[in-house]
Amino acid sequence: MPAISDSKAIIVGGTHGIGLATAELLVHEGATLIVTGRNHKKLRSVQAQLGDRVTVEECDITLTEAGSVIAAQVQKTFGSGPQLDLVFINAGYARLESVATVSEASFRRTFDTNVFGAFFVAQALSSLIKPEGSIVFTTSIANRRGIPGMSVYSASKAAVHSFVQSLAAELAARRVRVNSVSPGYIKTPTMGIEGTSGEDLDSFEKQGAQITPLGRVGTAEEVAKAVVFLGYEATFTTGSEIVIDGGLLSLEKVNH
Ligand code: NDP
Repeated sequence: MPAISDSKAIIVGGTHGIGLATAELLVHEGATLIVTGRNHKKLRSVQAQLGDRVTVEECDITLTEAGSVIAAQVQKTFGSGPQLDLVFINAGYARLESVATVSEASFRRTFDTNVFGAFFVAQALSSLIKPEGSIVFTTSIANRRGIPGMSVYSASKAAVHSFVQSLAAELAARRVRVNSVSPGYIKTPTMGIEGTSGEDLDSFEKQGAQITPLGRVGTAEEVAKAVVFLGYEATFTTGSEIVIDGGLLSLEKVNH
């Protein structure tokens, strides 16, 4: 089992929420990291918060050159050849829109971020992962349910669920594992939805707590622990998805 301390990892989309909580956990356990995001100010704040063991890289994964830009940063930071223990591809985009109001621009942005970006970054980094290393993607419980306002997002995360399995099958020959974490309602600065107001966040949190059998929303730290489990401890697990949803997908909520 690869040790976390002295390991090398990259978090694609690590400037807040689930990505940042995973970065904090890995740094606390002694890993060296690259954290990416689009927002320069947020990246500088991550660097200041997490210190010297973190290198930050500004990169929008919807761009064609993102895979080569991120791979070049990995080689600059860690050296050439397969050096990475964990690649966590977490960046995502969601917008609440009914089927009738989905615009071409938001459809493209959702698939460009969640599918195109995630796939081509994984492709660019796959040869830089050590044998026994792994890739973890963030999907969503929306990829298995019909949720009003989430048709395009759900389909995009279903695509990620699908290519996790193909990548796992192809990379098994190199002993590289590929898995995903599938969050339910998780309290993050956006709750995964772009452009949410403080009021929206309060109402998502209330709604999430009401319908989740465990009676509350999850924390980013709870998802981060599952990422670290898949990345370092689940050494006989590949092509799988861990659902972190307080029972939402599998249990009936009973009110006593
Ligand atoms: P967000 O989805 O708000 O953001 C995650 C990260 O992605 C940020 O660091 C953001 O950086 C980065 N990012 C977004 N778009 C791009 C892009 N085009 N290129 C590069 N980086 C990008 O945070 P959450 O923690 O809420 O969600 C993390 C993941 O979990 C997402 O994939 C989301 O879909 C999924 N998820 C979240 C749920 C929740 O309840 N929170 C539920 C189910 C799934 P920056 O802002 O700097 O660009």
